[in-house]
Amino acid sequence: MATIQAIEARSVHQIQSGQVIVDLCSVAKELVENSLDAGATTIEVRFKNNGLDLIEVQDNGSGISPENYENVALKHYTSKLSSFDDLSSLHTFGFRGEALSSLCALADFHITTAQANQVPRANRLDFEISGKLRKTQIVAGQKGTTASVEGIFKRLPVRRRELEKNIKREYGKVLNLLHAYACISAGVKFSVRNTVGKTKNVVVFSTNGNRTTKENIANVYGAKTLSALIPLDLELEFEPSTPMRRSGGGGGGGGGGGDGQSNQLVVKGHISRPVFGEGRQTPDRQMFFVNSRPCGLPQIAKAFNEVYKSFNVSQSPFIFADFQMDTNAYDVNVSPDKRTILLHDAAALIESLKTSLVQLFEAADQTVPQSQVLGSKTSTMAKQQA
Ligand code: ADP
Ligand code: MG
Repeated sequence: MATIQAIEARSVHQIQSGQVIVDLCSVAKELVENSLDAGATTIEVRFKNNGLDLIEVQDNGSGISPENYENVALKHYTSKLSSFDDLSSLHTFGFRGEALSSLCALADFHITTAQANQVPRANRLDFEISGKLRKTQIVAGQKGTTASVEGIFKRLPVRRRELEKNIKREYGKVLNLLHAYACISAGVKFSVRNTVGKTKNVVVFSTNGNRTTKENIANVYGAKTLSALIPLDLELEFEPSTPMRRSGGGGGGGGGGGDGQSNQLVVKGHISRPVFGEGRQTPDRQMFFVNSRPCGLPQIAKAFNEVYKSFNVSQSPFIFADFQMDTNAYDVNVSPDKRTILLHDAAALIESLKTSLVQLFEAADQTVPQSQVLGSKTSTMAKQQA
């Protein structure tokens, strides 16, 4: 039998980094979340060649203080969490200090950053593959931070080739993700630009720093899309199937019951009226959030689409749904890329959600003039299927 021995540290770092940064979406997600955590009110995301050559995120947030330059990209160094106990009271997107160190392992990564008192000077920081600071250099700059990722996955050749092959689709996915961040971030001016070939720095989409998510949706998807939406404002109440972990504070919008009590949460947002002609053929305009954190919620998405289908057989709805709930009612720390969220009592939640959605669509059906109901399925069908 071969000797059992430890993998060398450098290889461990590569392996783990590839689990934190799995694709283009992870890069954009981690950088944008860092900008939001830094209190930015303007965020510009720039792509070159759809992200293959460069993904860069510039913000006007706090900047990084010089005493943190040495540690900023070291693995598990974070300014946001110091012990596991803090996790339930956390109000930042990041908490594990893994993103920047992973980017150093997977791409050419550098940061330019300045705090308010340093402007017009900024510091450019370059890093080793391990995340160790290699050099700093004084450059001109504004307050905030720019993080630049060049040649993503250049050190994981198989993944790099996959990305190159599927770049159109991957780029489309990143844009959908960025739409979600731009729409949910009230008070933040977002812009996304891309340079492909000779078409330099084209604005792909932008928001105006609006106060409401509704205005953000109008900026991103257009006023026409907005006019086809109805407000989503549901209060769900359901029995917990398992006793819930209740430690520490928690927070969030909905509040929740203790052991044996029912759970409560609210769902806020916007959804297409269930009228034929207002949805889309493909479910590519669907965004889900837990306490304003964009995330994939496949079971919840399925429930929304099923109920919608029972009112409108041929189309998919636009969905913008923020589940506001007690921070003890879910776990973000499930996968290294933090995109999966584990909801306690998902089954009971979904049942309650479906019932509320049927009621919402039935009420919406009745307020639409019959002339507009072009072949939309009537609520009778919904009753049969619900
Ligand atoms: P995490 O976000 O989990 O803390 P990261 O590796 O993403 O880990 O970032 C490490 C640290 O670098 C953060 O805790 C933060 O202090 C700092 N940082 C990263 N990006 C920015 C930014 N855009 N503005 C200010 N500070 C940042
Ligand atoms: Mg982070």
